Amino acid sequence: MKLPADYHLHTPLCRHARGEPTEYAARARELGLEEIGFSDHSPMSREDFDDWRMRADQLDEYVAKVARARREHPALRIKLALEVDYLPGQEAWIRELAARHPWDYLIGSVHYLGDWDIDNPKKLSRWREHDPAEVWRAYCERLTRAAAAGLFDIIGHADLAKKFAIYPVADPTGWFGPFLAAAREAGVALELNTAGLRKECREIYPSRAILAAAFAQDVPITFGSDAHAPEEVGADFDRALALARSVGYTRWVRFTQRQREVVAL
Ligand code: ZN
Ligand code: FE
Ligand code: FE
Ligand code: ZN
Repeated sequence: MKLPADYHLHTPLCRHARGEPTEYAARARELGLEEIGFSDHSPMSREDFDDWRMRADQLDEYVAKVARARREHPALRIKLALEVDYLPGQEAWIRELAARHPWDYLIGSVHYLGDWDIDNPKKLSRWREHDPAEVWRAYCERLTRAAAAGLFDIIGHADLAKKFAIYPVADPTGWFGPFLAAAREAGVALELNTAGLRKECREIYPSRAILAAAFAQDVPITFGSDAHAPEEVGADFDRALALARSVGYTRWVRFTQRQREVVAL
């Protein structure tokens, strides 16, 4: 079975992953992957913003690590990318980042609502201070803005709000409608991210229901393990592929220098 590219890989520069890019590449080759992409947590303009991303002055080191992986694994196509936090007001900074290197793609991810990174286990107590529906709705609204911003090629882990298995009483699937419409309109791809299977929610991001709605709207997809260690590369890609096929997908998209190309699944 031919596997799609794993477009969501981290590096130790973000301070909570381990293993050099060349080790991730070695694992990808063991699995028979033909293409991978590094998309580590991008820097913020303020260095003291948080403690789980590279600093802006480490961007060149990041690019060099990926270049080394390319040199040592010439049989593998290795893409250079970033996972960029979408926060309203940061658009100018994100454009500046985008211009710094010839990225193959940018994944836009929503982790923050205000000053709260909702997926941070150290801030789990903040979930108890809110109605889950309120958090999920705010999350969906932010996701829609990220998709419509014209800054990103892919939106990462679209229903990350489910990470700790804290759900609203009502089915939230419909709340993702405006986001999917914005993604389709802006030509942004949706990521199937298998990291959710390793979290309390025990489910790929996004849910089958959201993915089915995405297929109905003709939103293209990419795949990512969100690996923070070499052994996580390509994790559960068989399950992600089965999920994508089960809702009707027959294609995924690859990116080169921010140009999209459709590939058969
Ligand atoms: Zn991370
Ligand atoms: Fe993320
Ligand atoms: Fe990530
Ligand atoms: Zn991620």
